[in-house]
Amino acid sequence: MKKAALSACLAGRNCRYNGEIKGRSEVVAKLEKEGYEIVLFCPEDACFGTPREAMDLTVTDEGVKALTKFTGEDRTPCLVEYAENFFNDHPDITLFVGKARSPSCGVCTARLYDEEGRLLSENEAGVMAAEAKARGVETLDDEAFLPLQE
Ligand code: SF4
Repeated sequence: MKKAALSACLAGRNCRYNGEIKGRSEVVAKLEKEGYEIVLFCPEDACFGTPREAMDLTVTDEGVKALTKFTGEDRTPCLVEYAENFFNDHPDITLFVGKARSPSCGVCTARLYDEEGRLLSENEAGVMAAEAKARGVETLDDEAFLPLQE
């Protein structure tokens, strides 16, 4: 059976930074209809628990980092380690559907800021999505996947 990786919050899991549950996205049913086995992931919950301080992708002197919004803590290492382990554990995943605009899961919709908080881009890949792309996995934001399947 073909396998798809899906942001767990889209399946209704309580793992969003603020603990808010969004409910089950139509993405789940559409992936199932397409014959995918769904493998859920949430790097931020695994690394930092829920609820947690929100974070942003930020350009620093040492490259792009995932920094917490208010305290500036660097959350990148754990997220990268989670992403590497996830894809090592699931080498047969062929599709990644990530939550749009997430700094972890957004595929081409994550926001990037400078260290003064100025918005530089709204078309970046989050940490987890970047790892999927680096491994040649097909990647789509949830908002791009839904219309494709209609
Ligand atoms: S967008 Fe990604 S990191 Fe954020 S709650 Fe959903 S699965 Fe977790």
